[in-house]
Amino acid sequence: MEQLPANDHAWNRQLIQTLWWVLIGYELATIFAFFMEHRERLGFSLSHFFEFQAMPTSLLLILMGIGYAGVHYFAAFSNYIMIVWTSAMACIFIVCIPELMSEYELLCVPIILSSIYFQRKFIVFSYSLGLFCFLGLTVITLYRGHEVTPYQFIVPIAVITATAFICKMIMNKGLDLSNQLKVSIVREQDLLIRNVMTDRLSKVDSLTELFNHRSFQEHTDHLISHMPSDTPLELALMDIDNFKQINDTYGHWVGDVVLKTVGSLLREVLGTDDMAFRYGGEEFAVLFVGKTHEEITVLCEHVMSTVRSTVIPEMPGQQLTMSIGLAPYNRNTMKKAWFQLVDECLYMAKRSGKNQIHSHFSK
Ligand code: GH3
Ligand code: MG
Ligand code: MG
Repeated sequence: MEQLPANDHAWNRQLIQTLWWVLIGYELATIFAFFMEHRERLGFSLSHFFEFQAMPTSLLLILMGIGYAGVHYFAAFSNYIMIVWTSAMACIFIVCIPELMSEYELLCVPIILSSIYFQRKFIVFSYSLGLFCFLGLTVITLYRGHEVTPYQFIVPIAVITATAFICKMIMNKGLDLSNQLKVSIVREQDLLIRNVMTDRLSKVDSLTELFNHRSFQEHTDHLISHMPSDTPLELALMDIDNFKQINDTYGHWVGDVVLKTVGSLLREVLGTDDMAFRYGGEEFAVLFVGKTHEEITVLCEHVMSTVRSTVIPEMPGQQLTMSIGLAPYNRNTMKKAWFQLVDECLYMAKRSGKNQIHSHFSK
């Protein structure tokens, strides 16, 4: 279940830069403090300066260089390199800086660092390395002839162990939060998809996959209120001829096949600017925006001829035809009157023998 940062390498680079600045700040501050403290006996103190300042600084700088190159060239192991590197730095501080001698708690820094990788193995690694370094430093202390009391031995181990446990708990808490976040993101995405689906279902006719009557009304209102007044807008109502007879002869399911075929045919023939809707039953509405009446008539004739030449395998030998009523929108009339006008045109096309276009201009 452990997961999280996939950008450890970027973190490490950032961390190195921070460590550079910390080291530079530390060096400047200690050099200043050293000279302030030893300004009267500078000659004598220079050997001290070399031992306790220049040498550890050089070691740290060499180590910084090695660590930097290691992280850069062995990116796959950069997390382990960072842990080893910071542990080595802590050891140098403990061994070389008099004020930090016996401050074994500095070995907790690599453990704290390892918790940003959010993986148990890095905490275990840094903890083991911390204990190993501590034991090594204790041996050096004994070798130098200093005494190590049981208290001095137990306390650092306890602190290092406690740090590792706390880091593990922080990591668990972080992972927990991250998992909760993931779950809520997935939930939010589900909800979004469901909303889009519901929205689509409420706007699209499931049989023909064209926009439905409700969308037609909404879209018409939108066009009327937002379209520039000089942009032509025309409505065509297309009604399949003798559809009831098709249903009665071949069954409703064939009627459905016909509706579906006409729906996809409209999508194919019409341009992206012209929106087709299933108006209801076997009637389709098409809104033509920004086209001349002549262009629209040519398009409607193309729709009619395509419908006529379409073969429906379920009704062999039976030709499909449709009638079309067509009228432009006039800004001086109401929407309702415009729809009635188109309806009348369609009625005229039916009365004149079907399979034809009747437009308001041809009256
Ligand atoms: P006209 O040539 O004058 O348009 O006559 P028509 O038979 O096409 O029109 P009419 O209004 O008499 O009949 C339309 C039929 O369409 C009646 C209705 O049962 C059928 N219908 C409406 N919706 C559907 C549908 O979704 N599927 C099927 N199969 N039939 C439908
Ligand atoms: Mg009909
Ligand atoms: Mg009808």
